[in-house]
Amino acid sequence: EREMASYAERTKASQAATERARKVMPAGVPSSFQAYDPWPVVVKHAAGFTMVDVDDNSYVDYDMGFGALFAGHMNPAVHKAVSEQLADGTLYVTPCELNAEVGEILADRYGFPMWRPTNSGTEATMDAIRLARGVTGREKLVKVEGGYHGHHDEVMISNKPGLDEAGPADAPHSVPQSGGITQGTIDDVIVIPYNDPEALDRALAAGDVACFIVEPVMENIGICLPDEGYLQAVRDICDKHGTLLIFDEVKTGITAGYGGATNQLGVRPDLITLAKSIGGGFPVGAFGGKAEYMNYITDGTVLHLGTYNGNPLVMAAVKATLTEACTKPIVEETVARNGRLVDACQAIIDRSGIPAHTVRFGAKGCITWSASPVRNYRDYKATDFDLAFAQWIHGINRGVLLPPGLDEQWLISVMHDDDAAMRYATVFDEFVQELVG
Ligand code: PLP
Repeated sequence: EREMASYAERTKASQAATERARKVMPAGVPSSFQAYDPWPVVVKHAAGFTMVDVDDNSYVDYDMGFGALFAGHMNPAVHKAVSEQLADGTLYVTPCELNAEVGEILADRYGFPMWRPTNSGTEATMDAIRLARGVTGREKLVKVEGGYHGHHDEVMISNKPGLDEAGPADAPHSVPQSGGITQGTIDDVIVIPYNDPEALDRALAAGDVACFIVEPVMENIGICLPDEGYLQAVRDICDKHGTLLIFDEVKTGITAGYGGATNQLGVRPDLITLAKSIGGGFPVGAFGGKAEYMNYITDGTVLHLGTYNGNPLVMAAVKATLTEACTKPIVEETVARNGRLVDACQAIIDRSGIPAHTVRFGAKGCITWSASPVRNYRDYKATDFDLAFAQWIHGINRGVLLPPGLDEQWLISVMHDDDAAMRYATVFDEFVQELVG
């Protein structure tokens, strides 16, 4: 309560800005994930790893646009490339050479020959799922409980179901997460637990499953790692049933390491979806895969459309992000910097004996508020959300910017220096000391 009062005191201009916005916009925010109580921080400007709000509070940003800003705010290379492109026009709706350049860069990094750009991760997963249906002639889709893949209807099933409606842990119900989703859509989506190959085998054996869409590492319930051998088992089971495997790398993307989680973990899907970190903060997505599948788009069997696809400003940002801002050595250095932060946080936990542990993947990390590992959504739901909230409000009042709750994880961008990265550990240490008294 003391921390909530302090937040309210520090963010009076954010309160006023939110109250104004609420009159013209539901919840006063452009995307419902941006709303939280009592009101969100409203930002004036950002650069590097710093964000400044309308009350002139300065924060070290550890959210970095839900991971979209791996390149940092206003990365100089991205800024320069976009500024130069701006002078040459913002939209052509006929191709420009940047499209092929970006396709080549993605092919090189991810080892898949063909790509199409989209404007968001949502579009990437929507288009990949349609392609899988077009290729297989099947209708159903399998996803994991607690998995988020954007906001189109078919993936807005069992993102964050309440335990009262979620059904048995080993055979979860398909729970719509929004009004406006048809029963037909709900019936088309089969939900299984993560890290459970047998459940996948059972779901695919029932027949008519076009694709299994999964984040190779779940990054919308903190960070939830695959068990040893899980992804290879998934690959084998999909092959056995003729179901396409889609790795949703919207969040892992290049934050996982140079070639994404796919290369890092050594299992190849049939289709891959990207967004966020490849765009240096610009609205982008992409999907790619094996030529035998992508050629369904080439021959027009499956349509993939969009006025803004391959937008030259955005393509300039992607190219600069991938070739200048986030090169292999820069990514490796950033992953190492994140490793030092994770180690520091784990040492604080070990010293204090609090029921928590750290999880890391690439340039990301999180504090998981349970003594035991989180292997799936039900484990995640059993962690201590009250302590997570207490840590969040303590942090935000001391300039550690993240969204509340346990869904997100921190990201060390290529523009965080050691001091900026370690600030998180310092504030976490203060919190833990208050906690253990
Ligand atoms: N897939 C995953 C794994 C995501 O985390 C998200 C967004 O958080 C999406 C897809 C949707 O991306 P976007 O918000 O760009 O539509």
